[in-house]
Amino acid sequence: MDVVALTRQLVDIESITGNEAALGEVLYRELCRLGYQARKMAVEGTRFNVLATLPEEPHPAVVFSTHMDTVPPFIPSSEDEQRVYGRGSCDAKGIIAVQIAAAERLRAEGIRIGLLFVVGEERDSQGAKAANQQPIGARFLINGEPTGNRLALASKGTLRIELTASGRMAHSAYPELGESAIDKLIVALTRLRAMPLPSTDGIGPCTFNIGLIEGGRAPNVIPDRAKAHLLYRLVGPTEELRRQIVETVAELAKVEFYLEIPFLRFRAMDGLPTMVAAFTTDIPALTEWGEPLLIGPTRTGNTWRRNNWRRRWSCIAGLPGNWSAVASLGSGLWALSSAIRQSLLVLRSRSVFLLA
Ligand SMILES: [Zn+2]
Repeated sequence: MDVVALTRQLVDIESITGNEAALGEVLYRELCRLGYQARKMAVEGTRFNVLATLPEEPHPAVVFSTHMDTVPPFIPSSEDEQRVYGRGSCDAKGIIAVQIAAAERLRAEGIRIGLLFVVGEERDSQGAKAANQQPIGARFLINGEPTGNRLALASKGTLRIELTASGRMAHSAYPELGESAIDKLIVALTRLRAMPLPSTDGIGPCTFNIGLIEGGRAPNVIPDRAKAHLLYRLVGPTEELRRQIVETVAELAKVEFYLEIPFLRFRAMDGLPTMVAAFTTDIPALTEWGEPLLIGPTRTGNTWRRNNWRRRWSCIAGLPGNWSAVASLGSGLWALSSAIRQSLLVLRSRSVFLLA
């Protein structure tokens, strides 16, 4: 299987969240062609997940999964001697190609893997939530997101908060008659920026971002309303953090917590390099698909910082794996079944992706 060609084929199909149907169709057909029993799992409107199992094993112990959607804008594929470029080449169409290639390699060894490709990961995990209603009895779910080809020990959670400050509108020539909501919001945000955040050994610190600010009416009007949207990256439970935020903001603004995706820890395995994922994944929505593990090519940390979603993503796609290394690593080091162990090794060997 030509992983590079498949990655490029998938990248060239626009699948920004909401538009995954055309890509799903191609994956469905490709998996049928390879002899899988592929199924379209309806999600919403024309959108569907693709689930594929081998006819000999409709309830595989191990399922590879990742997502079909990308963030905008669409960037078609290109390549040079070393890299494939284009939106989704790393996250997650290259991963889809790698997972199919790894499943095929394992199949040749008699290990039968399931494949689950979902819609909507970049927005609200809608595809994963739909899949969670229709589990197939898997013991392990190996979810693919860019982890630098390392096994994630944990993934940071997410806490989204809205701060709303209220004031009293007045002509700005008479500030004594008004009360500025923006001033209050600024003080609240300054206090939050100074507030110490928790840190977890081996994982790192909780961080936060003031992502959006809105408010006010005109330069000469004292603003009666202002809002800020914040996002915390979690490294533990949130009861104490929530309490501190409310206490810190005090009477300056109303605090609303409206989305929490929990911090998760995953199993470590001897012989496999590890990392901590600073992002969230579909895993919290796939609780019925077995114990989750998280691994995928490329390094998201670099990608986010350097490329900011807007510049090209790149990877070295699909260099053939080193099979002697794979064999030596697979010598009974892990407590898991041979299927899961071998799955990870083959997946990694098919995932020699590096960020430019
Ligand atoms: Zn992703």
